[in-house]
Amino acid sequence: MHQNGYIFHFQQAAKAAYLTLRKELTDMNILIFGPNGSGKGTQGAVVQKKYGVPHIETGVIFRVNIKNGTELGQKAKGFIDRGELVPDAITVPMILNRLREADCKNGWLLDGFPRNLAQAEALGKALQDAGMKLDYVIEIVLDREIAKKRIMGRRLCATDNNHPNNIFIDAIKPAEKEGKPVCRVCGCDKLTARADDQDEAAIDKRHGIYYDTKTGTLAAANYFRTRVKILEVDGTPGVKEVSQALLAKLA
Ligand SMILES: [Zn+2]
Repeated sequence: MHQNGYIFHFQQAAKAAYLTLRKELTDMNILIFGPNGSGKGTQGAVVQKKYGVPHIETGVIFRVNIKNGTELGQKAKGFIDRGELVPDAITVPMILNRLREADCKNGWLLDGFPRNLAQAEALGKALQDAGMKLDYVIEIVLDREIAKKRIMGRRLCATDNNHPNNIFIDAIKPAEKEGKPVCRVCGCDKLTARADDQDEAAIDKRHGIYYDTKTGTLAAANYFRTRVKILEVDGTPGVKEVSQALLAKLA
């Protein structure tokens, strides 16, 4: 009896240790940072595909909560309708609710939050209170001037929006036909720039918040530097090279 009890206890302990190990090996709770123009969205999708964790964009969480009329969504809508910023006291619980959904059971990749130091502190505390561990923070590092050029250099192909062309990125520079720039994929000569991508003031404003190391987004990334492993990836090379470097670091 005593012997069996001992074996049972041992088996239970071994099983618990195995489950803990397995959880540590499979869980991937990740935050991703990168300026506009760094290809953060594309890299987020690559991580999602490789690890099967949902790529969660904060903007989508807002839209879903408002559409479904959740209590937090209704509160958020009030602020948005008045043209005010939604307080972190509403945003953070909304994000946490999303991270508790079934598809996040093996991990998540959160994109678009926190945007500033105060939000980083609020999220860090909320995750801790909820007993959620943060495994990695990804930072796509890109020089501010290059990020701006990448946005302003985007050109849309009239034939297919998915034909990437950028006058400032050598790898996807438009081709030339009779001295005119044409789509490098299909040769179509209707390449246009999106108005948003040419709004220099708006780009500067957004980058001003991102590159602010005192209270802005980089301050938020730095907040996690002392707490979690930060994976810095150089965003200067092409999309494929950045993906490879990122996946190598995550593996
Ligand atoms: Zn094309």
